Amino acid sequence: MTHVLIVEDEVKIADVLRAYCEGETFQATVHHDGTHTVEWIATQKPDFVVLDLMLPGKDGLTICREVRQFSNVPILMLTARVDEIDCLLGLELGADDYVCKPFSPREVVARIKTIMRRASMPIVKTETNLLKFDGLCVDPEKFICTANDVAVDLTPVELRILAHLLHQPGRVFSRDAIIQAAYDDHRIVSDRTVDSHVKNLRRKIDEAGGNAEMIRSIYGVGYKLE
Ligand code: CA
Repeated sequence: MTHVLIVEDEVKIADVLRAYCEGETFQATVHHDGTHTVEWIATQKPDFVVLDLMLPGKDGLTICREVRQFSNVPILMLTARVDEIDCLLGLELGADDYVCKPFSPREVVARIKTIMRRASMPIVKTETNLLKFDGLCVDPEKFICTANDVAVDLTPVELRILAHLLHQPGRVFSRDAIIQAAYDDHRIVSDRTVDSHVKNLRRKIDEAGGNAEMIRSIYGVGYKLE
């Protein structure tokens, strides 16, 4: 049985999430305070953690950092504002996804299921460091990309963007992080430039018969593969 830990100090939100999780036959545990959460995760080893950012005792940011020292348990962060997500992405905390309040509990449960499914389906890394996901294959060293074995002709920047997303499918990358990864000279590039590269990437993957929909844009944040 999937054991979900919900760390949320707003009792109403925590109760609704717990009810939805139990409706999915998940086992749910709720912490209203972050003081002992890290120790609890270390000993109880839940399968999933829903973690609010602002918490009494110990905040979600600190908890996430500390847990990542010893565990890869999937973490879904709850935030109060969309612009907080941008900040958090910049900190590279290692959370798997972010949801902004107010949210529908149905959506949160859907995300938990998606992340769990992905966690059980790790990306394939062969001895030559090929990055593979859903029919897409990138060789970052040879600068080759294929979609279902059909060559996709990408520019170096497009290939680096795709390779970056492929390193952690499902994880949301901010446009800033994508720029850092795609340009080695750290030039100043606008968000719109990233958007246009991604647009070209999608078109080329689509033209090669691949699944361009896997590159998802997350409103106000960035991109992820799913
Ligand atoms: Ca809170």
